[in-house]
Amino acid sequence: MHKFLNISISALLFAAMMLCSCTSRETINPGNTSVPSEQSIAHTHLEAETTPRTTVAEIKTSAPEQTLPTQTIVETQTTAPNSTVIEEIKSLETTAAEEKTSVSEPAEDIEPPAAEPPVVDRFASLGIPEDVGYSYYTEEIREQMLEHGIDYDTVEQLIDVGFIFPEMLEMSHEERCIRSFTHSFRHFDGSIEEMLELLPKTEAYIAENYPDIITKHQYGSSVQGRSLDAYFFSNCEEPKQKIMLTFAMHGYEGDFRNDGAFLTESAYAIMLFYAENPEFLGEAQLIFCPMLNPDGVYAPKNAKYGREQSEGIDMNRDFKKGLFRAAESIALRDFMQEVEPDILIDFHGWLNATYGDSSLAKIFNKHTKLYHWDKQYGSSQGYLIGYAHKQGIRSLLVEHEHFTEINSIGIIYALNEICRKAE
Ligand SMILES: [Zn+2]
Repeated sequence: MHKFLNISISALLFAAMMLCSCTSRETINPGNTSVPSEQSIAHTHLEAETTPRTTVAEIKTSAPEQTLPTQTIVETQTTAPNSTVIEEIKSLETTAAEEKTSVSEPAEDIEPPAAEPPVVDRFASLGIPEDVGYSYYTEEIREQMLEHGIDYDTVEQLIDVGFIFPEMLEMSHEERCIRSFTHSFRHFDGSIEEMLELLPKTEAYIAENYPDIITKHQYGSSVQGRSLDAYFFSNCEEPKQKIMLTFAMHGYEGDFRNDGAFLTESAYAIMLFYAENPEFLGEAQLIFCPMLNPDGVYAPKNAKYGREQSEGIDMNRDFKKGLFRAAESIALRDFMQEVEPDILIDFHGWLNATYGDSSLAKIFNKHTKLYHWDKQYGSSQGYLIGYAHKQGIRSLLVEHEHFTEINSIGIIYALNEICRKAE
């Protein structure tokens, strides 16, 4: 079902986990046609549908390998489309090859020599910012290289060692990191059932791999016994601002059953970005609650609920004095009282709008291109942001345009801006 044109971090992570012991070139299937802009995540997805990208996880699993570049690279390339870039890579390759040959032949029972220093270190020695040293290329450049008689294997090796895409040198650090990250996006093209199976695997990958940045905390349990989890992200000792991000309060957002799972998937995408690029947290702390209503997200087809939690209570009509009927609402309320966030952003679909705090709305609408802003908080209706607002928390409800249009990159830009303001 390729109509699910959403970021599929879950799918890619699952794929990457399957590839962990197998990082051969054949398994890496790069080939985007253009570098996506901040605004074009939907287009990115469309492109990725036909031309899968190298994934973040694949980059991570292939990076430590640091396959020693072979002399063939230097020998086989004659004319390159971008001579400056190729010259730089040639010199890197030559240096690497020289370093390699200077090591005396190891006896069979001696352990293999230590791995090459990361390619990014070698780029750094040339004065190239380290975030340029990712696998960066375009299909166009690949074709040019092939046209210039550079054989396919060599092109792939240049990609492996980190082809320098010249215009990246002109970008800001933020743009480079985000553009690198967009290369990790891949369409989810399976069924919703497969997606629901993949989400826990994605969660496990993120939760287990970034212990320095992420602290996982279970703040409660759903009525059906599923864990209600939060993830604290910080990159400093004493964060100056706490920003809580909540997702999938409605397991069903009005398009098809379980479409709230796309919100959780978006949460994981954003979490993965900050796990990989914690410097953008600045002095802020992000607290992710990626699935407020897991029973609703996992509601079976014949269940009456889905939008609501399993007892039929709509959590976004439950955050009001005298209400708080659902165990999931109570757990979240108590957790909020414990954490005392400064900001709360609650993600939903699919009305293409933001509600609540005007300055937050301005930032989000600018970066995500959401259409409409409404100043209402829904306090009297029992909205989560209404409750937060009454507690003095700056709060915003983000309604994505559609599950095919979730602009996680726009959200990352918006969150970066908010995190910068915390400094
Ligand atoms: Zn909703």
